[in-house]
Amino acid sequence: MNDVMEEKGYFGEFGGSFVPPSLQGVLDRLTDEFEKYKDDPDFNAEYKECLRDHVGRENPLTFAKHLTEAYGGAKIYLKREDLNHTGAHKINNVIGQALLAKKMGAHRIIAETGAGQHGVAAATACAMFGMECIIYMGKLDMKRQALNVFRMELLGAKVVSVDQGQGRLKDAVDVALNDLVENYETTFYLLGSAVGPHPYPSIVKHFQAVSSEESKRQMYEKEGKLPDAVIAVTGGGSNAIGAFAHYIDEPSVRLIGVEPEEAATLSKGTPAVIHGFKCLLLQDEDGQPSPTYSIAAGLDYPGIGPEHSYLKTSGRAEYATVTKKEVMEAFELLSKKEGIIPALESAHAVAMAKKIAPGYDREAALIVNISGRGDKDVQQVFDMYQNGEF
Ligand SMILES: *Cc1c(COP(=O)(O)O)cnc(C)c1O
Repeated sequence: MNDVMEEKGYFGEFGGSFVPPSLQGVLDRLTDEFEKYKDDPDFNAEYKECLRDHVGRENPLTFAKHLTEAYGGAKIYLKREDLNHTGAHKINNVIGQALLAKKMGAHRIIAETGAGQHGVAAATACAMFGMECIIYMGKLDMKRQALNVFRMELLGAKVVSVDQGQGRLKDAVDVALNDLVENYETTFYLLGSAVGPHPYPSIVKHFQAVSSEESKRQMYEKEGKLPDAVIAVTGGGSNAIGAFAHYIDEPSVRLIGVEPEEAATLSKGTPAVIHGFKCLLLQDEDGQPSPTYSIAAGLDYPGIGPEHSYLKTSGRAEYATVTKKEVMEAFELLSKKEGIIPALESAHAVAMAKKIAPGYDREAALIVNISGRGDKDVQQVFDMYQNGEF
């Protein structure tokens, strides 16, 4: 898939690896090991077996009859990443990377987390494989996400509070990278989205691509053709790149990424380097990453994966924004019409379907990627109603 484009970790001008030499050596070794295993039949068989027996894949492609009637136009199909064990797509990536770590002889996994979702997924994979798990988390984030800290601890992980800097995600990343450089012989840094220096964006895409591998086959079974469009939300970009992967070389399929209006990286960003790679970035006048805010914690990141940056600037994919109000409407409508409470992140993709579907006739078919389930968000939505925000 796109092997030429991915050469040396560049997607057009985006991607690459902007890190100190000590870290570059570790990343070069990781690149070699990933190249060795990614097409290895035994490795892939073990990965697929884990997805089947631990995650519950494949998950369905569900025809959303009532949502289709409500929006009008194209048939809407939902790719059900919400039905995975732990309730979202993140598990596909953490299992893949944990398996890679095991093959590389690492027995210690480290990861960073902001909202806690990636930390919980990483802790889950480590429990499955019997590996030691250290999660670095900003002091402030730990306070805000106390329940996720407890989840990680239940799963056997050690959560380390990061006090330096502002006590946020960026500071946790810095500490995790220092740990990796010091302990690379025994330690694997498990990264949570399709971001970071090469080879991470390619690794994450490889493991998340299982979603579009399945949906392509499922759409042929149900409709006998390719979908007309695939719609997915983008935070760092991992569920979207997985939902797009097997359609990138199918020019008839529209690829539509959706961002919150308050974190419109692809819609409004300009090229810059952040966290060791080049991408479209929301910056202030001094070139500093702009603070973002989203009602969906998983979307609060001023950067975006390098491949999405390239898909945007090359015109292969479209990216658009939705408002908070549109997201909340979609969150309610999918719950009422289909009995599926989506994650607030995924509700962004549903909100975009409302704008896209009426432009097609009933013969057309859209795939909306439901990246996760909404159980985690119900308390927050309840509070927003109580406070009269909606
Ligand atoms: C983390 C998360 C996202 C955003 O991350 P991506 O890497 O862009 O996929 C979206 N949806 C859910 C449910 C998440 O947990």
